[in-house]
Amino acid sequence: MNLERSVLICDQVNPIIKEILEKNGLKVTYEPEITPEQLGEKIGMYEVIVVRSRTKLSKELVEKADKCQIIARVGVGLDNIDEEAAKEKNIRVINAVEGAITAVAELVIGLMLSMAREIPRADREIRNGNWIKKELMGSELKGKYLGIVGLGNIGKRLGRLARALNMNIIGYDVIPIDEEFSKEVGLMKADLDTLLSSSDFVSLHVPLLDSTRHMINAEKLATMKKSARIINTSRGGIIDEDALYNALKEGNLAGAALDVFETEPPIGSKLTSLPNFILTPHIGAQTKEAQLLAANIIAEKIIQVIRGII
Ligand code: NAD
Repeated sequence: MNLERSVLICDQVNPIIKEILEKNGLKVTYEPEITPEQLGEKIGMYEVIVVRSRTKLSKELVEKADKCQIIARVGVGLDNIDEEAAKEKNIRVINAVEGAITAVAELVIGLMLSMAREIPRADREIRNGNWIKKELMGSELKGKYLGIVGLGNIGKRLGRLARALNMNIIGYDVIPIDEEFSKEVGLMKADLDTLLSSSDFVSLHVPLLDSTRHMINAEKLATMKKSARIINTSRGGIIDEDALYNALKEGNLAGAALDVFETEPPIGSKLTSLPNFILTPHIGAQTKEAQLLAANIIAEKIIQVIRGII
């Protein structure tokens, strides 16, 4: 089996990928800052293209990838890759679904606690010289209802962590939910409307598809309790941000925390003017452990695909 293939890594990734690929005889070019124009000129030379989130492999770029056999994403979502175009060119698209499970689920716990105890506001006010202890009457997660939309890898991990905090877990998915998991966390299965109207916290863990774009819109937000809070660490576009702004501004929802946005970065978003809104810059998978794990998984998968094992 010929492993002498050329690999182009287009985004900043853990150096372990280059190390593993080179140890296996592949020729690796690392260009973490490559521009779309530069990529357009070079993409035709490589057999393997590795990306994270920054590089968008559009139809136009994929069509130029004449020698390419594998496109590898060091992450979960494949929405920055035109999969249709890749399929047409017979290019295998692989990702590292297992890498970010714990990192994203732990971030959701952090965001729920941040909202329940107003931690970002507390920090800001002290820095501004204000000791607002009396205003910061928080609430506990224990006993609250957490609605998880999408019980795949991350949704299930979150369910287990939240159960350990004595939260009650409600779940909705379009496919049957793992029975063992359901028993373990005492899951209450529900349809989306029941989940939304019954939960104190709602966390979204679905892929961005035509069927999930704006699945949380004005109508769905209106079914939620006024005291409820929503978290999106999945993909921007699952929540309609204009509808979310209106719900928060009019007091129809107590809070929201977003790690992902319809446009990233969300410069000029009116959501940033709201006090009951927390933002993080798409850091779901941004832990040393998750990046190392995803890098190892992707490097091994590339070698296995080349060797015809998977
Ligand atoms: P997964 O494929 O394991 O699970 C997704 C689940 O969503 C599946 O069980 C699927 O059946 C379900 N689903 C699909 N359409 C649905 C719908 N309309 N209604 C209800 N459920 C539906 O994926 P995962 O690894 O758990 O990742 C979940 C999301 O998190 C993805 O969007 C992924 O891109 C995102 N993600 C974000 C970050 C980040 O940095 N914030 C990092 C990793 C993953």
